[in-house]
Amino acid sequence: MIINKLVNTKKMLIDAKNGKYAVPQFNINNLEWAKVVLELVQEEKSPVILGVSEGAAKYMGGYSTIVGMVNGLIGELNITVPVALHLDHGTTVESTMAAIDAGFSSVMYDGSRHTIEQNVKETKEVVEYAKTKDVSVEAEVGTVGGEEDGIVGGINYASLSDVEAMATTGIDSLAASLGSVHGHYQGEPDLQFDLMNEYSVKIRLPLVLHGGTGIPDDMVRKAIEAGEAKINVNTELQTSFTKGVRRYIEEEKDKFGTGYDPRKVLGTYAWPEIKKAAKLKVELFGSKNKG
Ligand SMILES: [Zn+2]
Repeated sequence: MIINKLVNTKKMLIDAKNGKYAVPQFNINNLEWAKVVLELVQEEKSPVILGVSEGAAKYMGGYSTIVGMVNGLIGELNITVPVALHLDHGTTVESTMAAIDAGFSSVMYDGSRHTIEQNVKETKEVVEYAKTKDVSVEAEVGTVGGEEDGIVGGINYASLSDVEAMATTGIDSLAASLGSVHGHYQGEPDLQFDLMNEYSVKIRLPLVLHGGTGIPDDMVRKAIEAGEAKINVNTELQTSFTKGVRRYIEEEKDKFGTGYDPRKVLGTYAWPEIKKAAKLKVELFGSKNKG
């Protein structure tokens, strides 16, 4: 058996920035979710970042449960492409450090609700601790809009001064909010490509685009061209999953034979739907054959 280990995101994101492609972050919600994503990236030979929010971590039984699960899958499935396990939107320094202690290879500390001074100070604390464990750190400045409801008014654009202040902390990548939102968009996203380009050149760090669901393909390509080296995809895999479950139930497949078996309920359409959605992202982001 090949013993492959989690890696941090440092090299994969620098390679992506230099090569003008983006590494996908796919958020996971359970064992099979992680399994199909890993199978897909292995088939596509793409590096991948498995994203886990604090809420998803609780849902799955805690940080160390997830570390054990993902390490197990990497070994058992002979995954040879680079895989990072990343805390998405760590809300406190303590919680972010707990993910590091449990074995996450990468973390995001999101202090964007604080003043820039406090955000910088707390991010620095996380960076100093992360460095001792070879864990990569992502920070956020400005505010990515709408949590689930895509309220575009919730966006706070990141300023150059905030971006430059955050770049001094020793972080490895930066989510500078420039018009993307979590969840679904209402109308066309209004992404600030000129600012992406300017920030990317000035701070020379890989930029991270949150809210990768629902951004038209040509805008995604433009954002990558402008310096976005990591794109987070969460909602789109969730809606693909739900679509698959709905189809199975609507076709009443659960009512025949052993159609009630959860492996069939989820395995018939839901997991293939996720795989299909993830494959399209890998192709769009240009990370195919970069692992
Ligand atoms: Zn996000």
